[in-house]
Amino acid sequence: MLTIIIILLIIIIIFSAKYPWWLPTKKGLIVLMYHHIYKYDDTCDLEKALYVEPEIFSKQMDFLLKHNYNPITLEELSKSYKDGTFKLPKKSILITFDDGWLDNYTNAFRILKERNIKANVFVACNYIEQKNCMTWKHLKEMKDSGLISFGSHTINHPTDIQTLSDEDILKELKESKQKLEENLNITIDCFAYPSGAGAINKKIRQMVFDTGYLFDFSTKRGITNFKWNKEKAINRLYIKQGYTLFDFYLLITKGKNSF
Ligand SMILES: [Zn+2]
Repeated sequence: MLTIIIILLIIIIIFSAKYPWWLPTKKGLIVLMYHHIYKYDDTCDLEKALYVEPEIFSKQMDFLLKHNYNPITLEELSKSYKDGTFKLPKKSILITFDDGWLDNYTNAFRILKERNIKANVFVACNYIEQKNCMTWKHLKEMKDSGLISFGSHTINHPTDIQTLSDEDILKELKESKQKLEENLNITIDCFAYPSGAGAINKKIRQMVFDTGYLFDFSTKRGITNFKWNKEKAINRLYIKQGYTLFDFYLLITKGKNSF
């Protein structure tokens, strides 16, 4: 009997050292980061982690609804931000997609519409109308649904924006904002750094704000405090292929799914 108890205790300790289930629930702005909502196959040319199966994505969305999370848009985030504080409904969550892949329309948008869930896309403008990417028509339809809001993810999606000249950086920031605003007749307040590069670079961040963006999003794992004075870019929780619902639960409640 004692041996069984000791073995069980050891298992619990090992499990707890890996998974932060015992941490207190973290309050703050929860932002999910997705790329592809597509079942990975040989036609996929990006790393596997970026492809979340539509079926798994549906389950994650159902989990949010079941546990009374409130998915919001970037537009609503912008409106809620006054005096350096996000004043948002309880359990607010931002669902974001990076780049502008076609499956965001064919799979994600379909699943979101069925459940009346709001979400957001950070678009790399030169991807629009390209193979396997969304068209302006798709983006307009998503916008008109009232469910989807947009942010900029540059024009060309540079691997590391920090390696560009100041002139080119400004171009990436400014032109992407203008292009999206003009074509979709919206205001773009949010910017997400491609691959997270530049998110801790003071000069680049200043350029982002000088261009007229109000919020910048990194790829750093975590939950951002509701009081936010631009000291650091807003964290996001990267939802990867293969994550279980337990991983998903840990991410949105503890800000991490493993140590
Ligand atoms: Zn990207």
